[in-house]
Amino acid sequence: MGKRHIRIAELLQEAPGQSVVAKGWVRTKRGNKNIAFIALNDGSTINNIQVVCEVANFPEELMKSITTGACLAVTGDLVESMGSGQKVEIQAKEIVVYGTADSETYPLQKKGHSMEFLREIGHLRPRTNTFGAVLRIRHAMAFAIHKFFNDKGFVYLHTPLITASDAEGAGAMFQVTTMDLDNLPRTEEGKIDYKEDFFGKRTSLTVSGQLEGELGAMALGNIYTFGPTFRAENSNTPRHLAEFWMIEPEMAFYEIEDNMDLAEEFIKYLVQYALDNCMDDLTFLNNMIDKELISRLQSVVGTEFVRLTYTEGVKILEASGEKFDYPVAWGIDLQSEHERYLVEKHFGKPVILTDYPKDIKAFYMKQNEDGKTVRAMDVLFPKIGEIIGGSQREESYEKLTNRIKELDMDDTNLWWYVDTRRFGTAPHSGFGLGFERLLLFVTGMANIRDVIPFPRTPKTAEF
Ligand code: ATP
Ligand code: MN
Repeated sequence: MGKRHIRIAELLQEAPGQSVVAKGWVRTKRGNKNIAFIALNDGSTINNIQVVCEVANFPEELMKSITTGACLAVTGDLVESMGSGQKVEIQAKEIVVYGTADSETYPLQKKGHSMEFLREIGHLRPRTNTFGAVLRIRHAMAFAIHKFFNDKGFVYLHTPLITASDAEGAGAMFQVTTMDLDNLPRTEEGKIDYKEDFFGKRTSLTVSGQLEGELGAMALGNIYTFGPTFRAENSNTPRHLAEFWMIEPEMAFYEIEDNMDLAEEFIKYLVQYALDNCMDDLTFLNNMIDKELISRLQSVVGTEFVRLTYTEGVKILEASGEKFDYPVAWGIDLQSEHERYLVEKHFGKPVILTDYPKDIKAFYMKQNEDGKTVRAMDVLFPKIGEIIGGSQREESYEKLTNRIKELDMDDTNLWWYVDTRRFGTAPHSGFGLGFERLLLFVTGMANIRDVIPFPRTPKTAEF
């Protein structure tokens, strides 16, 4: 029988009675003078393979060097396991220690760690059960997003990360420059001379790929973007990152109802994909992080989202008798507490709110006949609040340019955007799903810093 190295995820499904090689990191080692049980994990699954060693068969020094965190290659026989919890285990014949992990200094000892502490060791936290599960689910969701759109014939459009337009005032922007900040070139009037900068104009990291996405939709029909976006918002909340990933589909000929249908179908598809493909990890998270996780996921795929207007939503909030930190009145930008009240307390299911006041929404949203509201739609979720923001777009050249003037926006870098309304304009719609907000929902994690491998937030850019 030849030796073969296979991942632990597959190894655990193999039939006993063969010689195998397993490689991975030691999670725990226990036992006595005669026998040692090593739980080995290689990141392919939440489950460990148990390695059983007869201590007498191995040099003492080698056995001592096998501590939590060490990396091993184990050769042995795959045998039926006597213990509960696993079908098979490895009877070790040969062990190579690739790397030791000094038990005095290796920070991930067996005891449970707080999420705050794990953020300080972001370089090692992927080795924990929780982050292994979260990162595998993150991968599965990324794959499912591409599959969903590919199956529907959407084109994945790569929009730029460096931009000269302030997409929508969606958030404060990070400036991109190669100028020497200690010695800035000046114009005659003493202003910074951006002609001297790398792009010959002032540029920033994008807050959204939407505006370029619309250019794609006006040529290819249906497109989506899926990439990093950046917001220099100094909001230290469990739902905001300075660098996050966003999925932004944009569809020609979609009206707001079609847009809502797509958003609802999309999220349900992703949640169902997780239930179908990530059950081991979800079960772990359900046991360790959030006891209602799986039932919440199941309830979302089986329920029809509520659809109502912002105005109706505000009426419900006003009539609720609930004490909110921010008082409710028509015209305010709803806070997470209001969104969650509607979703969790009032309806008990996801809500799509539409037709927001135009003054709290972006310039490009289609104006309603009432002159006060726009055809916006936000999808509100339990635990999260806003998970999707979208709208039907204003397709009228006149109305769009009037709104730009009304808002006194600098339109020098928007000429190409308004051109779509000059040449072959069409009704169209789109939305943005925050990838990490989706992951908060799907994993049950409480803080957005813990669903992205290396979070970027105010005053933290380690790793
Ligand atoms: P919020 O009011 O929650 O700050 P927003 O209205 O600024 O969100 P949009 O500009 O509509 O959000 O962005 C689209 C989606 O991107 C949101 O629905 C949300 O899922 C996500 N999102 C927005 N800002 C952030 C952020 N700072 N970190 C992570 N995700 C975000
Ligand atoms: Mn925001």
